[in-house]
Amino acid sequence: MKSHPNILSEFDLIARHFIRPTPRTALGPGDDAALLAPSSGAQIAVTSDMLISGVHFLPGTDPEKLGWKALAVNLSDLAAMGAQPRWALLACGLSKPDENWLTGFSSGIFSCAQRYGIDLVGGDTTRGPLTLCVTALGEIPAGTALRRDAARLNDDLWISGLPGIAALGLAHRKGEMRLPPEILNACLDRFEKPKPRVELGIALRKNALARAAIDVSDGLLADAEHLAEASKLDIAIDTMLLPECLPEGMPPVSSLTKKFQKARLSGGDDYELLFSAAPERREDIGALGMQLDLPLWRIGRFVEGQGRVTLLGKRGETLPVFHKGYDHFAENIQ
Ligand code: ADP
Ligand code: MG
Repeated sequence: MKSHPNILSEFDLIARHFIRPTPRTALGPGDDAALLAPSSGAQIAVTSDMLISGVHFLPGTDPEKLGWKALAVNLSDLAAMGAQPRWALLACGLSKPDENWLTGFSSGIFSCAQRYGIDLVGGDTTRGPLTLCVTALGEIPAGTALRRDAARLNDDLWISGLPGIAALGLAHRKGEMRLPPEILNACLDRFEKPKPRVELGIALRKNALARAAIDVSDGLLADAEHLAEASKLDIAIDTMLLPECLPEGMPPVSSLTKKFQKARLSGGDDYELLFSAAPERREDIGALGMQLDLPLWRIGRFVEGQGRVTLLGKRGETLPVFHKGYDHFAENIQ
C-alpha cells in the first residue's frame, strides 16, 4: 500500500521507532514471525502485562518513563521465576502517531531492553486508545524455576527493597500527599521507572537460596496471600520486622506515618521480590543482599494453614488486616 507523503505509514512508524538490531535472535522483526533459538536444556518463561492509559498510568505520563515501565513490569515477572530475560514483543494501540511521544517511548523501552540484555523481536501496532501490551520471554534451566507453590513449612518470608514507596510516589503525583524531600525522588523513581529485580531472581534460583517467589505488584499482603494459597500454608508477617520507609531522623508526623504504614502493607507497583527460603539460608541471603547492594528483609514465616496471611504486632498478638492491595475487579476495602 502506498502511503501519503506527509503521513507516517504504519510500516514507516514501526521501522522508525520499534525496529532495532536483534543480535541475540535467529530472525528478528520484519517477517511474519520471529525465530528464537533457546539455549539447550532451557525452559522458556513467558509473560504478558498490559498498561492502559488511566488505569495503569496517568494520562500525560512521560513517554520515556512509560516505555521503560512497560517492559520493566514484565521483566519483574520473569525475575520472580528466576529467569534470564531474553526476548520481548510489543503490541500497542496508539490514538494518533505523535513523533515526539513515539521517540520518547521507544527510547524508554529500548534503554530498558539494553540494560537487561534483551531483543525486541516483534509485535503489532494498531490505531486505538493508548494501550501497551508487552510479552517477555526468558530462559531457565529446566525444572529450576521459582514457583509460587514451592514454599515449605517453617520457611522464612523475605522481601527486597522498600515496599510501599512506589505507592507513595503515586499518591504524590496525584496530589494526595506531599512527600518530604528526603524521600521524594526515591518514591517517584520506584513508581515511574521501577528496576526489576532480575539479578536477585537469578541469584536466588542459581544458588537454590529461595524456594517460592512472587513479585510484588499489587501490594505486599495481596501478593503474600498468593504465595500462601499456592503453597497451602499460612504466612505470619511480623510487623516489627518490616523495613521502615520513613527517612532516618525525620520527626514522626502521625498522619504521614499512618500513610507510610498502609503503603508498606498494601501499596502496589513496587516490583520487589517476595520469596520463601529455608532458615538455614539466612546468612547466604544476607551476603547476597550485600553483594547486590539491595536490602533484603526477613519479615515473616510460613506456618500451618490454608493460605491466609496474618499480621503480628509488638507482643506477637494478631493484628486486623484492613486492606490487602489492589484488585481490578474488587477495588475495595477487604
Ligand atoms: P503481520 O501483518 O504479518 O502480522 P505486521 O504488519 O503487524 O505483520 O508487522 C510487521 C512486522 O513488524 C512484524 O515482524 C511484527 O512483529 C513487527 N512489529 C509490528 N509492530 C511492532 C512493534 N510495536 N514493535 C516491534 N515490532 C513490531
Ligand atoms: Mg500484525
